[in-house]
Amino acid sequence: MNVPFLDLRQGYEELKPDIDCAVMRVLASGTYIMGPEVESFEQEYARFCGARHCVGVANGLDALTLSLLAMDVGPGDEVIVPSNTFIATWLAVTSTGAIPVPVEPAESTGTLDPGRLKDAITPRTKALLPVHLYGQPADLDPLLEIARSRGLLVLEDAAQAHGAAYKGHRIGAHGTMVAWSFYPGKNLGGMGDGGAVTTNDPHLAERVRILGNYGSKKKYLNAVQGRNSRLDPLQAAILRIKLGTLPEWNARRRERAGRYGDALKGQEMRLPQTLSGSDPSWHIYAIRHPDRDRLKRHLERAGIATLIHYPVPPHLQPAYRTLDLGPGSYPIAERFASELLSLPMGPHLREDQQDHVIDTLLEFRR
Ligand SMILES: *Cc1c(COP(=O)(O)O)cnc(C)c1O
Repeated sequence: MNVPFLDLRQGYEELKPDIDCAVMRVLASGTYIMGPEVESFEQEYARFCGARHCVGVANGLDALTLSLLAMDVGPGDEVIVPSNTFIATWLAVTSTGAIPVPVEPAESTGTLDPGRLKDAITPRTKALLPVHLYGQPADLDPLLEIARSRGLLVLEDAAQAHGAAYKGHRIGAHGTMVAWSFYPGKNLGGMGDGGAVTTNDPHLAERVRILGNYGSKKKYLNAVQGRNSRLDPLQAAILRIKLGTLPEWNARRRERAGRYGDALKGQEMRLPQTLSGSDPSWHIYAIRHPDRDRLKRHLERAGIATLIHYPVPPHLQPAYRTLDLGPGSYPIAERFASELLSLPMGPHLREDQQDHVIDTLLEFRR
């Protein structure tokens, strides 16, 4: 039996009539940049997230970058980032000219450890950038409390957390700004690139909109040096359809996460842990195993595709050689990178496929 890591075609098959109809509607409309599909999606997504404003942008990296620029983060500023995250979190910071200051994750949840924050804050710290990694909400309350007491801004990287909730409220407006990606493989994904920013602050929302539209509010009048970063109406129309099934698809992920958890507990592997009171989106189901590479090959031989999120932490990437953070500087992130293994997970993972993954994991001997 073959078990793909994620098969995006099945998502399309399930929603085909509605998606086809939405795409045809955009093609027939004559509006191919901005317009009513984008506006409707922005309103619907803001409502879904419990945020007052949503601004569509071209992708998740731009959502992060434009948020930082809107908050006036730039050269001379420091931004606290997790030592274990996807590279885009760091790239957004460095693209503004600011310096990323890594903080190690909590051993249990893998998200930014609020207990380690105080040592990383300096007079130059301008913002905190927690990531809801794998769809596990970061521990926001202590982060927000520290931010409030020190006058820091908070940008959440929610690229993996569509529909996740922290203490009863969906991710979307806990921090100052929240950045989203609609890359096809995300829980809410388009059929191409897409992204958005949500916030309760009308001024910051407006700044993102202007920055992503050539720095212009009125056509051909450019207030600031902006760029072109807009959500495509075709993607917006598709995302409106997929937003409708997001809660159900997330529920399927939760059910599959529960099955993995029940079947694999007590084994020689660390299972994902969730903060009490939070409801993850289960974007990725990442276990940790001391003999990860052999386990990965063992699964491969049984036809099971797995991935590693992420094999090299940002501080050890060639792209960040200039930061001079060598091996050993963030040991938790480095150990995670050597032990993590993401199992097949998604709304279309069948029960017999998941049983095959579980059986194959249980028969692995070191
Ligand atoms: C996917 C992702 C991004 C970037 O999103 P793109 O739309 O691919 O630019 C940023 N941060 C995290 C944590 C992600 O998973």
